Amino acid sequence: MEHVKQFLSEFVSKVAHKARQLNKAVWILETTGSPDAADLKAELDTELRMLFNDRAIYDKLLKWDQEIQEPLLKRQLNVLIRAFKPNLIPQALLEEIAQKEAELSQSYANFRPEFEGKALSENEVRAVLKKENKAERRKKVWEASKEIGDVLAPQILHLVQLRNQAAHSLGYSDYFQMQLDLQEVNGKWLLQTFDELSKRSDEAYLEMLQKIEKEQSKRFGVEVKALGPWAWSDPFCQEDPLNNQELDDLVSQLDFSKAGQAFYERMGIPVHPILERSDMFERPGKSQHAFCINIDREKDVRTLNNVQPSIRWLETVLHELGHAIYELGFDSALPWLLREPPHMITTEAMALLAGRQAYRYDSLSHMIEPSEKTEPLMKKADQSLTRRQLIFSRWVLVMTEFESQLYSNPKQDLNGLWWKLVEKYQKIKAPQGRQSKSDWAAKYHIGLAPVYYFSYLLGEMFASSIEESLSKASGSQSLDSHKAGQFLQHKLFFPGNRMPWDALVQHVTGYPLTPDAWLTQFAGPAELGAQG
Ligand SMILES: [Zn+2]
Repeated sequence: MEHVKQFLSEFVSKVAHKARQLNKAVWILETTGSPDAADLKAELDTELRMLFNDRAIYDKLLKWDQEIQEPLLKRQLNVLIRAFKPNLIPQALLEEIAQKEAELSQSYANFRPEFEGKALSENEVRAVLKKENKAERRKKVWEASKEIGDVLAPQILHLVQLRNQAAHSLGYSDYFQMQLDLQEVNGKWLLQTFDELSKRSDEAYLEMLQKIEKEQSKRFGVEVKALGPWAWSDPFCQEDPLNNQELDDLVSQLDFSKAGQAFYERMGIPVHPILERSDMFERPGKSQHAFCINIDREKDVRTLNNVQPSIRWLETVLHELGHAIYELGFDSALPWLLREPPHMITTEAMALLAGRQAYRYDSLSHMIEPSEKTEPLMKKADQSLTRRQLIFSRWVLVMTEFESQLYSNPKQDLNGLWWKLVEKYQKIKAPQGRQSKSDWAAKYHIGLAPVYYFSYLLGEMFASSIEESLSKASGSQSLDSHKAGQFLQHKLFFPGNRMPWDALVQHVTGYPLTPDAWLTQFAGPAELGAQG
């Protein structure tokens, strides 16, 4: 056992050093867009990956894994084995995949569809879908937003073939199965669980959809049957299209950093050290997205945001801080390798839970003075949360089943499959004339963030189960108390990666992960719709 400890201490100190350098390069790159930082990041990325590219060490790890029983040592070996495995794919293939992904990313970033004689950015497409009331113009901009699919589809299909080849080299049936296995997720369980969630929320979704369609039909002066997918406020019908402007106005006077700080203080968790290190506002050259990064697994945790006065950004600020307090909450006695969440699912659950508070009446009433004007809007925000959950869950169901089938049989009629799934889950019909198109390839994640989306829905399910457990433990599902903060700190954050994600779920809630709590919250009582 001593030789294993010796190996871990030497090997992990190299990994920790390289990872810290890489994280700093990432931070500089994302906050400035500096080309030097981009080069440095790529170099450090390769150097870090090379540490895991050693068949002899991998074989030793497998052997030790058979011999060692001590739980913390065994868990560290497990983490390392799963980090080494994908790096044992033949080097030439790994390089080809990296190169094709970089090319795809470039094509994606550079493509601008033509609309009314002008090249449009993604944000401009969305702005038209948010504001335009003429159905014909909405249809045109939606069609323009899909053009990228036809351009990217051949590149994506080539990558799918390479990724499958990589999976075969490690003995997996396809890339989807490989990714799930490396993340300790059981593929059969995943698809069954999503199928159950889908059936049991079908009725609630349909009822909500009919309300939305009625509003859309009124707004655009078009019959419900003729609405089309361009009636939504985003190109994939994955967001709540109602009350957008009103809810933005509700929070437009708030200082989101201050509101976030006050929110986490009510949980007894100080976040000002995180905010001091964070980068909150838009700037030229800066990344347009939002994320949380743990630089050193010591105490240096930061978030990046591009705050705008919208409810979506209030949600995002709370969300990223949720990731951050999780990262700061690990048992500091844990070895470096285990100072991380066991899977994205568990940290997303915390972040999603925090993000929900941007819509919850109870939390909002702490942030905004209730008045005759704000009171009804806060209630509308609460209703919007339910719609958001139902709508987004359907979108994850489409993505997950599509990806599973894309990798198991890439030669089938993929656009036919795509619209079949959109119709099955989102209950939105394919418009005429899409047969020869590649609408599936227009979604960024299909090509560039594969086998990833499912975590969000599992995270939402876990978030609802946590709220149910809080209710049982303290009589309230609200996060606004020290008791809630302590529960999360001790149960969810403290264990780090000392156990797999599914064991951590049981540790927190007492049950394996099921959709029950989520369904009760957002799709009404479980009996409703269970017959279908
Ligand atoms: Zn997140």
